[in-house]
Amino acid sequence: MTAHQRNFPTPIDPVRLDRLAQVAVKVGLRLQPGQDLLVTAPTLALPLVRKIAEHAYKAGAGLVTSIFSDEAVTLSRYQFAQDHSFDRAAGWLYDGMSKAFAANTARLAIVGDDPMLLSGQDPAKVARASKANSVAYKPALEKIVTFDINWNIVAYPGPSWARQVFPDDEEDVAVAKLADAIFAASRVNGDDPIAAWDKHNAMLRSRTEWLNGQRFSALHYSGPGTDLTIGLADGHEWEGGASTARNGITCNANIPTEEVFTTPHARRVEGHVVSSKPLSYQGSLIDNIAVKFEEGRIVQAKASRGEEVLNKVLDTDEGARRLGEVALVPHSSPISKSGLLFFNTLFDENAACHIALGQCYSKCFVNGDRLTPEQIAAQGGNKSLIHIDWMIGSDQIDIDGIHADGRHVPVFRKGEWA
Ligand code: ZN
Ligand code: ZN
Repeated sequence: MTAHQRNFPTPIDPVRLDRLAQVAVKVGLRLQPGQDLLVTAPTLALPLVRKIAEHAYKAGAGLVTSIFSDEAVTLSRYQFAQDHSFDRAAGWLYDGMSKAFAANTARLAIVGDDPMLLSGQDPAKVARASKANSVAYKPALEKIVTFDINWNIVAYPGPSWARQVFPDDEEDVAVAKLADAIFAASRVNGDDPIAAWDKHNAMLRSRTEWLNGQRFSALHYSGPGTDLTIGLADGHEWEGGASTARNGITCNANIPTEEVFTTPHARRVEGHVVSSKPLSYQGSLIDNIAVKFEEGRIVQAKASRGEEVLNKVLDTDEGARRLGEVALVPHSSPISKSGLLFFNTLFDENAACHIALGQCYSKCFVNGDRLTPEQIAAQGGNKSLIHIDWMIGSDQIDIDGIHADGRHVPVFRKGEWA
């Protein structure tokens, strides 16, 4: 198909875009009447933000506030800012967000920027800016991580992102293709996307119920380049699909989502593991990661590309070298089947089993919302300024669950549920 054969003024189908906005508000956030909403988005996602505002107010939203970022504005800083700019962040903005979340404001984040936006910039400056941002963002991010309020991330097909995923196509065609891929993965192709999500959530719930019944003490991964034992945190709980925030609202934080996930033990991870997909981290690509764990800590890290960025990330703080999440995703997931590399964690993490460096999720503990940070740490939960998912799953990975008595139970064979 060529660009001039389409019927829409943009290459993005407005019907499915409207359904995506509806799913974000009704499934992703389950926004309550009277509840305020904070939307953060790139300027290129304006058509989706407008649709989301419409559905939010129809659902009874109190006040919808949108905050935009912009690719060109971000790049201006790297081109023209004085050196000291890179140690600064808009702390006042994050303090305001933190206040809003404390007052039960829901949070919606739209992703869609060029995943390689910062790849040509000085890695030292990128790392400094990222660290300053992590520190300033902490009070707001904590309320997201501890799931105080209902929040959701959805994606919009930005043109630079689309060209990264479909490098051989004209921009319009690439955007149309990425839009199709986002709509399919977000389950908005059918007439009743809300019912489709109810069904999907029920399937994910059956997986988490099985895993929670097993109460494994560890998982063992084997495959090419990988021989890894991940101890699970004491009192860990598997989560997946919809879950309930501390404000009592049950929502789907990620659209799309295919994973079931829990908290590994920060001090009980041993062995080697290699990444199965490149990691796109704040505009840099980190490829062919190979790490070695001892007593939960990464003691050796290599990458064929982006090794410098990887090592800077690992040096963020003590918890950056330890795991905060382990997630299971079958190789046959729709995103995996698309065969695309999205260069975006929201999608790529749902194509494969993954682990995350850094901060754990307190909700992935039995009675997690009642545990203090000290109790979570004592049970093996990790603490860090970062949380970065990277993919280790493929059709060649076998996973066993290990019970406390040493008994092994097959969990995955050749990348699929056993
Ligand atoms: Zn995950
Ligand atoms: Zn994660």
